[in-house]
Amino acid sequence: MIQLTRHFRLSEFTRSRTADAHGIDNTPTLAIVSSLQHLCQQVLEPLRLWAGQPIIINSGYRCPELNRLVGGVSNSQHQSGEAADIRLPDKATGQRYAEFILENCRFDQLLFERNSSGTYYWLHVSCKHKDNRQMFRPNVKV
Ligand SMILES: [Zn+2]
Repeated sequence: MIQLTRHFRLSEFTRSRTADAHGIDNTPTLAIVSSLQHLCQQVLEPLRLWAGQPIIINSGYRCPELNRLVGGVSNSQHQSGEAADIRLPDKATGQRYAEFILENCRFDQLLFERNSSGTYYWLHVSCKHKDNRQMFRPNVKV
């Protein structure tokens, strides 16, 4: 078991039902683990401490084969361990989380994403070791 920060384990970012179903080995390299840890340190752990409740990761690292299978864009930061999707109980929680990240964290991209019918919301957030853009898009239909 690899602990990335106090509240986040590596397995939370690598587990995938799709990978399991297709027999895909979604094991990251050490460089990718380092990027995931950086994302936790800069964004997810501060968010977790402020929120005072578990932050559930829907999707973290995706090897290229897994990324293709789930329909990720070809240059997805999920493939480098720089991005994670945060599960949200509702839209209002997403807005609170997004505000916290915007005001307190160093990040590259923050996308408030929803499905086409608007019934399901999640936050995509990424962080790089340098040249972070602090780019926010509040309404991304996936
Ligand atoms: Zn994402």
